[in-house]
Amino acid sequence: QAKMSKPVQARRLEGIDKNIWVEFVKLAATYSTVNLGQGFPDFPPPAFLREAFRRALSEENHMLHQYTRGFGHPPLVKILAQFFGKLLGQDLDPMTNVMVTVGAYQALFCCFQAFVDEGDEVIIIEPFFDCYETMVKMAGGTPVFVPLRPKAPKDGKLMSSADWKLDPAELASKFTTQTKAIVLNSPNNPLGKVFSRGELELIADLCVKHNVLCISDEVYEWLVYDGKEHIRIASLRGMWDCTVTIGSAGKTFSATGWKVGWTVGPDRLLQHLRTVHQNTAYHCATVAQEVVAQGFQRELELYGKPDSYFVQLPKELQQKRDWLVQSLDAVGMKPIVPEGTYFLVADISKFKSDVPDVPDSNEPYDSRFAKWMVKNKGLAAIPLSAFYCGAHKNDYNHFIRFCFAKEEATLKAANDILQKWKQEKTSP
Ligand code: PMP
Repeated sequence: QAKMSKPVQARRLEGIDKNIWVEFVKLAATYSTVNLGQGFPDFPPPAFLREAFRRALSEENHMLHQYTRGFGHPPLVKILAQFFGKLLGQDLDPMTNVMVTVGAYQALFCCFQAFVDEGDEVIIIEPFFDCYETMVKMAGGTPVFVPLRPKAPKDGKLMSSADWKLDPAELASKFTTQTKAIVLNSPNNPLGKVFSRGELELIADLCVKHNVLCISDEVYEWLVYDGKEHIRIASLRGMWDCTVTIGSAGKTFSATGWKVGWTVGPDRLLQHLRTVHQNTAYHCATVAQEVVAQGFQRELELYGKPDSYFVQLPKELQQKRDWLVQSLDAVGMKPIVPEGTYFLVADISKFKSDVPDVPDSNEPYDSRFAKWMVKNKGLAAIPLSAFYCGAHKNDYNHFIRFCFAKEEATLKAANDILQKWKQEKTSP
């Protein structure tokens, strides 16, 4: 009896049982004809990688069907050490400076479990990939939020994700003696912001000054547009020693279902990630790791050359971005032009009259709007408020996020829906 009266739900799970992805993925599956919601490409991964997968499966080496080294398949950690060593200006040991995870998602989980204790504060820059908040809470920590603040351009130009900036004094005020880590996500999901060198130096200086770790989620590292440069914070002065850099083969090679991710950092940090990994997932699919290793091998040989996938993919995605920007602008759903990622955030203010507000509702307006849109127009997107903490959800509740990593036909179908909607609005 005494046993029965114990709550089955752990205290750390309280209040985080509702999840926006569960809700919106289901809505999209039920109602959408065009799904620009969740972030995944509907085009195939590159042919060289699909071919590598076929080869790996048909090869004599049947050991690719068995366990490999738990902290990462040796060919993969070796090539990642070589590749990222070059980019970060570090001599990396594949066995101690790199660890493979089940997607970047598990890399994040390992970081929060390994570094965050009860009472620790973790700074999260809003808007943020929503699991940062819940993972910090599951580790017993306290998330502390600091927003990117938008400033509209004066000249009537479209807003850019670069117009969303940190207030340096506000950011500095969040660093306390309790601060254990800051989560950086550049290029940022959902805005597509690519942090400038100056912005990264500001964060880096504060990390060094306050002895704070930087968990740098760089899964969109290759998806940067308009000739912008992705700068890795671990390459800035003093930062290697206190940064864990996280990457994803899902985003790197347009294969989100493979769930191969990695962490790169100093052994003094990675040793703790290994403990968590060893005692949770332990292992990521061997075949997928083998194929990702071959993908990186190819990219190392073609680095910076026109045939490199890391050169071609952003070019293709930039075109898709431009296409969706133009399409949204034409119907008056003002886009914020992203500098990177799969995503584009658009202002829904002009469409508010179609979706009546419910005053005093607990649900942010953009969430109701996105639900109405998928049910009535068949177009799925994600409300921006999903990327804010509870207290700030209503501060940014008139935007929705679209994913443009889609086939031309999908983007065209979205455009058709928007055009038709606009015509219905304007016709008497
Ligand atoms: N970080 C960010 C910012 C993401 O957008 C995502 C995927 N949506 C992840 C991490 C997780 O990546 P993976 O699929 O490799 O687990």
